[in-house]
Amino acid sequence: VTLRSASVSSQFSLNSKNILGGGKFGEVHTCTEKETGLKLAAKVIRKQGAKDKEMVLLEIDVMNQLNHHNLIQLYDAIETPREIILFMEFVEGGELFERIIDDDYHLTEVDCMVFVRQICEGIRFMHHMGVLHLDLKPENILCVTATGHMVKIIDFGLARRLSGLSPFLGDDDTETLNNVLAANWYFDEETFESVSNEAKDFVSNLIIKDKSARMSADQCLQHPWLNNLAEKAKRSNRRLKSQVLLKKYVMRRRWKKNFIGVCAANRFRKITSSGSLTALGI
Ligand code: ATP
Repeated sequence: VTLRSASVSSQFSLNSKNILGGGKFGEVHTCTEKETGLKLAAKVIRKQGAKDKEMVLLEIDVMNQLNHHNLIQLYDAIETPREIILFMEFVEGGELFERIIDDDYHLTEVDCMVFVRQICEGIRFMHHMGVLHLDLKPENILCVTATGHMVKIIDFGLARRLSGLSPFLGDDDTETLNNVLAANWYFDEETFESVSNEAKDFVSNLIIKDKSARMSADQCLQHPWLNNLAEKAKRSNRRLKSQVLLKKYVMRRRWKKNFIGVCAANRFRKITSSGSLTALGI
């Protein structure tokens, strides 16, 4: 796929009302290729700064190398005067994180193994291609269907952030950040009580500051936790206690996100109504 200048509407019909998600640079919509009827996800990136196009070209370059069933595929890329639109393979199952915090979803440790195996397969392929994701987080793992177990990794931009419920979690953001920087972590006894030692060993071997001592994706796939899944599934399908904690965490995060959004909208309304658009650089 190479970025080309064209009009979107001649080839695709973008469903502007159906927003799948939004990020710093734009939104992701569902869309259909007119000639084939193929349903796709269109990531619309507004060209705001001088570096924006450069960043998207890098994302395209990376995605062109990632031909693997656990990595979302790039289908086409179009540039218009104001935007760049990436057309990607569409998956309809939503974010894995949303699925596993659903009260009706009975999350077991074997489910986790099935999901983590696929993430490792995708990451191993990326690493073999000399590419690092650098933004792996629960929002960037999507389910292919609403009930099936297949997942795919998305978002190959280069943003670096912190996020997710993790063994580094402190009482507040500063403490969490300090824990990450110092590589301090722990397994909360009560939450992890029903989790196997193999799982704890797996995680312990990933949270190592020294990269050379940390497990590679290849080693992850050979780890006992990610093997003999059929056998393990027969032995136990106990629901994980941490599901409740995850849900609480997601609710808090969602509330924060909405709160920040509302504050920003109010601020914008105030500025525009007072006529001081120069404050916004307009
Ligand atoms: P962020 O700033 O959060 O990193 P972003 O602008 O880089 O976001 P993505 O992470 O690629 O954008 O996508 C944002 C959201 O859109 C995803 O979390 C997901 O819910 C949805 N999404 C992205 N790609 C697809 C896809 N191919 N199929 C279905 N939904 C998708």
